[in-house]
Amino acid sequence: MSRQPGQPQSPAAAEQAQPAVAGISTTAVHAGEDRRRAHDSITTPIIQASTYTFANTAELIDYHEGRIEREEYGRYGNPTVRAAEAKLALLEAGPDMPAAALLCASGMNAITSTLLAMLPTGSHLILTDDCYRRTRQFIQTFLVRLGVQHTVVPACDYAAIEAAIRPETRLILSESPTNPYLRVLDLPRLVAIARQHRVKTIIDATFATPYNLRPLHQGIDIVIHSATKYLGGHNDLLAGVIIGRPGIISALRESQGITGGICDPHSAYLLLRGLKTFALRMERHNRNGLAVAHFLHNHPRIARVHYPALPDHPDHLIAMEQMRGWGGVVAFELDADMSATSRFIDRLRLPYIGPSLGGVESLVEQPSLMSFYELTTEERLAIGIRDNLVRLACGIEDTEDLIADLSQALDDKDVIRLA
Ligand SMILES: *Cc1c(COP(=O)(O)O)cnc(C)c1O
Repeated sequence: MSRQPGQPQSPAAAEQAQPAVAGISTTAVHAGEDRRRAHDSITTPIIQASTYTFANTAELIDYHEGRIEREEYGRYGNPTVRAAEAKLALLEAGPDMPAAALLCASGMNAITSTLLAMLPTGSHLILTDDCYRRTRQFIQTFLVRLGVQHTVVPACDYAAIEAAIRPETRLILSESPTNPYLRVLDLPRLVAIARQHRVKTIIDATFATPYNLRPLHQGIDIVIHSATKYLGGHNDLLAGVIIGRPGIISALRESQGITGGICDPHSAYLLLRGLKTFALRMERHNRNGLAVAHFLHNHPRIARVHYPALPDHPDHLIAMEQMRGWGGVVAFELDADMSATSRFIDRLRLPYIGPSLGGVESLVEQPSLMSFYELTTEERLAIGIRDNLVRLACGIEDTEDLIADLSQALDDKDVIRLA
């Protein structure tokens, strides 16, 4: 198919125009975007269109017969969104593995769309316990209503995972690293169990990103990310992405054409722009996370630090082996009660108090007062959320500044007095 200069790229052209990319930073900058763009602009344009028009009936018939590739209607595809999808597929899978990506309205939409499309009534799903709260809620309320059963197993308990498999089990879903305790799954071990029983595996790798972990290369069937976090990287968009073999992704794309949870072109543009610096940002997030974890680990006012690179983390060896870095999120417990822990958070000057992670600005939260506020202390303890737990999502600030800030807050007399 020929493309006139100045015309937006077609889906096929986007794939054919790949530069010979190799490294992750080169991929993040160049992959997925046509080398020659509309109006010779260096940026991929935001194609703000709900529908795409046909010159005549013959062109419409050619489109239906697959003789030309082009867009039809905004719910079925958009050139800006396709460029972001192509970049993400290459970032996750690399050039040698056939893979495709589907962008969704949010990370939660990516999760719910995948589960709805892949789990028929009467089927069964296994999910690990340390996970994003809304994922658990969706499975325990919506899927149960649709006649889909589930079993929750402890993260990294492989005997429990295998024991939970039934004849009707279709999927095993886990995060890695998990939220908030950063448990790291032994992916080849999980894949071996799943394959033996013909069960598919899904990893929500939001906390890892393709910079730190490559689940598809370990045999995982589907990877999901909340692109709202590290992939977008600037706390300014919501999006989710599903990545896997092209056959699975095109089936999910067909479902999205019906259910409608698309990513809008503005968010796709912000994502493309954020991804340009993805590798640079991850390098700094990793460095900050590691340095802060070590600093806290050695601080007398800290009872416990949860970070996979620390030797006392339960999955330390797996994490060292299977991950390139361990990300910017550090969970830790103060040697203090609920209110002294809040006082510590209020004394911090650099991180903003807020949910989320993965943006350039550091964010801090006390999970018991953020995502789990409406639960009682007992209900929180039942799912492992203690009142003295803090989750710090390191941004890309200077490492020394983050540590100096933590240090002054921990040494504050009011914090100590209240403990
Ligand atoms: C944030 C997050 C989600 C949900 O993503 P949204 O983009 O907020 O919908 C899912 N899983 C994990 C691990 C997350 O951190």
